[in-house]
Amino acid sequence: MPVEPVTGMAPMPLDGPDDVAKLMELLQRPDSDARGLGDHLAFLAGTQPELFRPYQEAVITGMLGRFGVSFADQCVLLGGAPDQCVEHLARRLRHHWSFGDAWALAAIGSAAALEAIAEDVRNGGDREEYELCGVWVPPTGPARIRFSLHRRAVCLQPVNGPEELAAVDHPVGLPVDQVAQGPSATLISWHYLSLRHTDVPGLPAWPADRVHLVGVRAGYPWTLHAGIDNYGRYHNAAVTYDEPPAVEEEETYRSLEVPGFGLGSVELRPYDADLVYCNGHIQLTPGVVGTAGGPPIGLYSNPSCPSCSRLMFHVVTVENRIREYGDGWRSLFICEDCQTVSCNATGWN
Ligand SMILES: [Zn+2]
Repeated sequence: MPVEPVTGMAPMPLDGPDDVAKLMELLQRPDSDARGLGDHLAFLAGTQPELFRPYQEAVITGMLGRFGVSFADQCVLLGGAPDQCVEHLARRLRHHWSFGDAWALAAIGSAAALEAIAEDVRNGGDREEYELCGVWVPPTGPARIRFSLHRRAVCLQPVNGPEELAAVDHPVGLPVDQVAQGPSATLISWHYLSLRHTDVPGLPAWPADRVHLVGVRAGYPWTLHAGIDNYGRYHNAAVTYDEPPAVEEEETYRSLEVPGFGLGSVELRPYDADLVYCNGHIQLTPGVVGTAGGPPIGLYSNPSCPSCSRLMFHVVTVENRIREYGDGWRSLFICEDCQTVSCNATGWN
């Protein structure tokens, strides 16, 4: 059974509408295990979200407080909920603002929901809370979703040597000078992953074949912004830190930079019943190191484009163990209009 409830709850079968009805009955009970049920709902989001559709309105209007589901899974389960759900949440936000209602509204993501979010923010609702989950409110018009609704599990496989690496679609461990040029190739010290952006459904058009997730010699948090040249290589890179790394810290990172270490290839797999759903994520699935597409983590500020100030579009988030260097999550974002990229490092949630 690929549901492994974090609370130790015994997994329930979720094969058809009757099983989902039983799950929803349990969710209504105040003494039930909301987190354990949440892992079942995450499984449903990954496998048969259509079975949840009849319950969208009941959850939004009456059970949101017990709906222990990550924002990413909420997007799948609540996406496109009827407009009366939007009206219900907008009314609640006007009366008493809460991030739970705001996230549900963002997860619905319909035209009516995006209008309601823009109105909420312009009436004093918490803009940052929406930006945490990848939703941006421009100066005029409806809110914009700055992530793809299509998620892919990022699965890592080892690769034997640079020749094999050169032939794969989504390489891990390229030499830095293949993905950055000029002084940026000095500032950028590590290559985590390159993705063929057309293999992540729902990403905006991008002028280069691949986008790159790279790192610098510093512990988290940091954010790197860069432009791209005609070959998609990063240039004009600049990093912001909460605290610049000490010389000794940089030396520690330098000692890890062994050429040929941790070479790999990434396969992008649709969410399905073969993944392990536990604690609101799929990271316990053997080989899975992150997710491409879907919203950003939702706990940390996401980068805005240094050129146009728009919230950047989330591409992928992986654990550092994709290619050991530093600690925590590494994420990649793009601004498709300005052709800028951001890579950032954040801690564990
Ligand atoms: Zn921009």
